[in-house]
Order: sequence, then C-alpha cells, then structure tokens
Amino acid sequence: MKLQMPKGAADIIERLEENGFQAYAVGGCVRDSILGKVPQDWDITTSARPEQVKAVFPRTIDTGIQHGTVTVMVEGTGYEVTTYRIDGEYVDGRHPRSVEFTPDLLEDLKRRDFTINAMAYSDREGLVDAFDGREDLKKGIVRCVGDPVCRFTEDALRILRAVRFSAQLGFSIEKDTRQAAQTLAANLSKVSRERVQVELTKLLLSDHPEKIRLVYDMGLAPYITEGFCQARERCLVNLDRLSKTAPEKHVRWAAFLRFEKPELAAGILRDLKMDNDTIDKVKTLIFAAKEKLRPEKPEIRRVMSRLSSKLYQDLLDIWEIYGREEERERLRQIRRLSEQIIEDGDCICLKNLAVSGKDLIEAGRKPGPELGKTLNYLFQLVLDHPEYNTKEYLMKAVGDER
Ligand code: ATP
Ligand code: MG
Repeated sequence: MKLQMPKGAADIIERLEENGFQAYAVGGCVRDSILGKVPQDWDITTSARPEQVKAVFPRTIDTGIQHGTVTVMVEGTGYEVTTYRIDGEYVDGRHPRSVEFTPDLLEDLKRRDFTINAMAYSDREGLVDAFDGREDLKKGIVRCVGDPVCRFTEDALRILRAVRFSAQLGFSIEKDTRQAAQTLAANLSKVSRERVQVELTKLLLSDHPEKIRLVYDMGLAPYITEGFCQARERCLVNLDRLSKTAPEKHVRWAAFLRFEKPELAAGILRDLKMDNDTIDKVKTLIFAAKEKLRPEKPEIRRVMSRLSSKLYQDLLDIWEIYGREEERERLRQIRRLSEQIIEDGDCICLKNLAVSGKDLIEAGRKPGPELGKTLNYLFQLVLDHPEYNTKEYLMKAVGDER
C-alpha cells in the first residue's frame, strides 16, 4: 500500500536510509492516513541513535534526547525523529525506569499502546503491520498490543487513551482490552491528573464526546477525581447533544458540566490541573447558563455586560442546543435582540460609558471605592437606557445617585 507522505517526512526517511539506517513514519500519522484523514504531524522512528540523527541533519532540536527524540527542521516544519526503543520496566505504573535503544523495529512497535497505533510505513517497505492494526481499523476496534492486563499495568493512562481513541475514531473497545481496563481502573490513581485531564479534554473535543459516558460505565470515574465521579447523575443527561456544541475546550467542558454549581465545576477542573483561563470561562458560562433570561433588552444587556462577546455567543449556542422545544421561540427573540444591541452600539461595557473615573474626579469627586460605586450606578442606568449614555446626562445623574 502507498500512503501520501509530506515531502519533508519522505526526505528525512530517505536521508536516513542513504546513511545506512532504517526509518519509518509511525503511529498516529500512519493510522490517520489509512483512514483517509490528514495527520496533524508525522512522527518518524529510526534505527539511528539521536547523535547519529543529529549528524545527518543540519538543523535539529533536542526535544527529548533522553527518550531518543530529536526534532528535525525541514523548511520551517519540525518532525520528531525517535530512535527505536524498548521501554524498560515501569517502576510505579508511571514512568519507565529506563528506555533502551534497540536496532529492531518490531521491538519499537511492540511497546506501543494499540494495534492501530503500532503500524510503521515507508515508501521503500510499504506498511509494516505486525499486530493487525489495519484489520482492527477496518473492524473499528481499539485493541492493545499484546496482553492488555500487562499493558495497562505498565501505564494506566492507556486505559483513558483507549476511551479517547474510541471517541475520536468512533470505534469500540475490543472485549479483552475493555475487560482489562475495567479490572485495572484503580491504577488510574497513579497517573498525573494533568495527563488524565488532557485525555478527557481530547475525548470531549472529539466527534463522539458522548463517549465520556464510558468513563463512568467502565468504572473509571472514581479514579479520576471525587467531584468528577459525583457529577454522574447531573452530567450524563442529553449527552448526545454535546457533539453539537463547538469543539472548543471551554465550551465542551461547560456543556458537559452545565448542571453543576459553577464553583463545583471549577473545582473539578482545578483538581484536574486545567489552565486558569479555561476554568474561568467554564465557570462564567455555567453561571450565566443557569439564568432564565427574558427576551427583554435591559436583561440581555446585563448578561452581555458580564461576558466577552465570544463567551456570550457560546452561551447562546449552549442555550439553543440544550433548550427545550417550547423555549425555541424565546431563544430566537433573545438572539434577535442581542444582534440589535450590538448593531445599535448600545453601551454594554464599562469602558464605553460616556463618563469615566477621570471625568468624575475632575468634577470634584474623590478617588476611591466610592467612585467605583458611582460609575457602576451610572453603568446600570445605561444598561437599562442606552440613550442616557451621554456625558451631559450622566454628569447630571451623578447628583441623583443617593
Ligand atoms: P494524536 O497525536 O492524534 O492524539 P497519536 O497516535 O499521534 O494521536 P500520541 O499521543 O501523539 O498519539 O503518541 C504517538 C504514538 O506514540 C502513538 O501512536 C503510540 O504509538 C505511542 N504512544 C503514545 N503514548 C503511549 C503510551 N502511553 N503507551 C504506549 N504507546 C504510546
Ligand atoms: Mg501525535
């Protein structure tokens, strides 16, 4: 079989071969190419040692030299070139104690997690598929290379990776692999929460985010975090709608956790070492999503004033996707009124208020918390009556504050 490889990757493989080494594209790029998808990046596996790779190419970066990985730069694109290796004994189900280089491609393929990820390809040799990965791609199954009990014992993150690939590819998990995953679920406690989060996020961003249900059904949830596990009753409803939301991490997480209290949702993400920006967005969205907004401009402006315009659009989408049939009309009106508010340039942001703190100070007000309160009073006034947003009117209104 012939796969379409980018020129950079093909060149790297050819150069290594010319220098007497073996080299292949490997892993996700081979899998995705066979599926007819465009791979995000092309990883290369080679018999050459890192220092030998560096000697062949003029421009390289030491990405993970201790694991045998060197990035080779070709016309601005980086390709990770990794020496064939055997992962040594796993000390604690987290890290291999050592990695050992090997001259044997097969040994390198054996250490990989799933058959569909353990194929190698070069133009010269064609597909190297020692574990029937291609057959499993056809069948649509995720299956461990070798004995799943051993493989999940070595590295429990693979349990979540199995679920994640099943969601990305729309595959099922092969029976023995699934059985082993369920049996060894508790080992997930040993994996860093950040790596767990990365897999859950990829799962939610996939074409089948509803497969997050598997995390609960397979008994993995108790070993994710306590909060995540307890979210079960509230979060597994209408899962089929998740895939209709935008594939952005704050949107998918907010949609999934939308029935949680905002603070609890933020806690779950914090425990999973999510970045603060995403946590803030999720919390804000969930908080806003709970409001039952009437189709009236002042109320709409008030909600808009608390969210960035992008987050407000995300909110409307979530409402629409999860709204009941009888709420459709109300949502349509809200959307229409929101558009008008934007078109009319109504003030929905404190910095667009016709009066600033500086104006108030010039008019004799003292700087301090009181000033903030006054500005907020004027802002609230303008949210109800955008036509009041002139300096003249607002300076007069300052006097009526109390
Ligand atoms: P994508 O990058 O699209 O998410 P991928 O298959 O490239 O998918 P990566 O996590 O980038 O996945 O890993 C690259 C390859 O390394 C995999 O295809 C697999 O062969 C191997 N691999 C990655 N993580 C593990 C692991 N925990 N155990 C065994 N092999 C792994
Ligand atoms: Mg990859």
